[in-house]
Amino acid sequence: KRRNPGQPEFVQAVQEVAHDVYTFIDDKEKYHEAQILRRIAEPDRVVSFRVCWEDDNHNVRVQRGWRVQNNNAIGPYKGGIRFHPSVNESVLKFLAFEQTFKNSLTGLPMGGGKGGANFNPRGKSDSEVMRFCQSFMTELYRHIGPDTDVPAGDIGVGGREIGYMFGQYKRITNRWEGVLTGKATEYGGSLMRPEATGYGAVYFMQNMLKHQGQDVEGKSAVISGSGNVATHAAEKIVQLGGKVLTLSDSGGFIHDPDGFTQEKIDWVKQLKNVRRGRISEYADHFTDASFHEGKRPWDVACDLALPCATQNELNEDEAKSLVSNGVIAVSEGANMPTTLDGVKVFHDAKILYGPGKAANAGGVAVSGLEMSQNAERISWNHSRLGEMLTELMEGIHGQCVEYGKQDGGYVDYVRGANIAGFKKVADAMLAFGVM
Ligand code: NDP
Repeated sequence: KRRNPGQPEFVQAVQEVAHDVYTFIDDKEKYHEAQILRRIAEPDRVVSFRVCWEDDNHNVRVQRGWRVQNNNAIGPYKGGIRFHPSVNESVLKFLAFEQTFKNSLTGLPMGGGKGGANFNPRGKSDSEVMRFCQSFMTELYRHIGPDTDVPAGDIGVGGREIGYMFGQYKRITNRWEGVLTGKATEYGGSLMRPEATGYGAVYFMQNMLKHQGQDVEGKSAVISGSGNVATHAAEKIVQLGGKVLTLSDSGGFIHDPDGFTQEKIDWVKQLKNVRRGRISEYADHFTDASFHEGKRPWDVACDLALPCATQNELNEDEAKSLVSNGVIAVSEGANMPTTLDGVKVFHDAKILYGPGKAANAGGVAVSGLEMSQNAERISWNHSRLGEMLTELMEGIHGQCVEYGKQDGGYVDYVRGANIAGFKKVADAMLAFGVM
C-alpha cells in the first residue's frame, strides 16, 4: 500500500495473489532470494500520455491515455485497451498484473499488459470515436509492435474501435502486421475471437461442474453485463441447455423469468452494438421481463452465476445472497468482479468458484491464436478454433485443479490459478538472472 498510494484496485489484486503465492514459495528459497513476486508486482513500465481530439462541435477535448507493460518474461506484452470514464492508473495496473497470470495459464507465449483511456464512448458519434481512436494510436504506436506488445479490446473497445486504431497504426508505420487482436476477419481477425471470452467462461463452468459429476443442462443462470462477454456467455449457456434469467448494464438489470432465447440475445446484441442503447429498453420490447433500475442481479435465485460486467460488481452481501439462494457455481467472465470478502463467502460455502484470471482466459487465448495466424499469414476455420478453445479451457481447468486441490477434494481455483500462472513466469524470470 505504501508503495502504491491511491491505487486500491492494484493493491487488492496483488494482495490476493500474494496470499496464495507466499504459501506456495514458503519452502522454495530460489523464488524468495530472487524477489520474484515483488518484481512481477512492479510493472516493467507505465506509459501515460495526452490524447487530444476535437468533438463534433469543434471543442478541443483532452483525455489521458495509458499503456501498462507489466511483464514480458514469457512473450510479448498482451492485454486489452479499455475506454471508460473510470479508467485510471490503478485499474490498469491491476488489470495488467492479472493479465500476466492469465496469459501464463493459457500455455501460450504471451506476457501481460493493459491500456486505455478515461474516454467515455457513450453518446459519442462515430466520427468522434474515430478521431479519438486515431489520436490515441498516434501516441500508442511507438510503444507497441507484433513482437513487443499486442493490445486487444476490452470495455468500450470492440470491433469498431479496433478498426480505427489498426487503420491509424498502418497509416503511421506503413506496415501491415498483427499489432492488435480482435480485428475483423476481413483484415486479419480470427474467427471465434468475439465469442471466445464468454464461451470460454461457460466452458470453464462446465469443466468445474463436470469435475463434480454435474452439467450445465437444466440449470438456471444469472449473468451481469450485456456487452461482448455477457451476451456470448448467455448464448453458450442456452446452447448447452441452461436457462439465462438476467442481463444488465450500468443502469440496472433485466429479469426475464421465461429465459433469454437466442433470438432475444441477438436482439440485445443489436441493441448494444448497433443502436448503442440501454438494457432498460428490453423490458419495453419483451413485456414479460422486468427492469430493475440501479440494481445488480445477484438477488435472483439461480444455480449458476456469471459476473460479466466489470470489477467489484459482486460484494460480500451479494455473495451471501447468491449462496443462500442455492447457487452452486460462479464463473467470472469479467476481471475481478467479486470483492475479496465476496470470494471468502464462496470459499467458506465450498461452492465452485472460477476466478476471472482462469475463467475468462479464453478471450486472450484466441487472441494468441490470432497472433499465430497473422504471423503465418493464414486463417484457421471455425471448427478448428472452436476445438482449440475447448481444449485450452480444459487445460486451464486442469492446471487449477493440480495446484488448487485441497485435502478433502475441494478445489480452490483461485489458489490453483495463482500458483500455476506464477510458476511459469517466475521460472522464466529466474532463467534471466537479476534484471
Ligand atoms: P463491453 O464494453 O462489451 O461490455 C461491458 C458491459 O459491462 C456493459 O454491459 C456495461 O454497461 C457493463 N458495465 C461497465 N461498467 C459497469 C459498471 N461500472 N457497473 C455496471 N455495469 C458496467 O465489455 P466486455 O464485455 O468486453 O468486458 C466485460 C468484462 O470482461 C470486463 O471486466 C473485461 O475486462 C472482461 N474481459 C473481457 C474480455 C474480452 O474479450 N472482451 C477478455 C477478458 C476479460 P454499459 O453499457 O452501461 O456501460
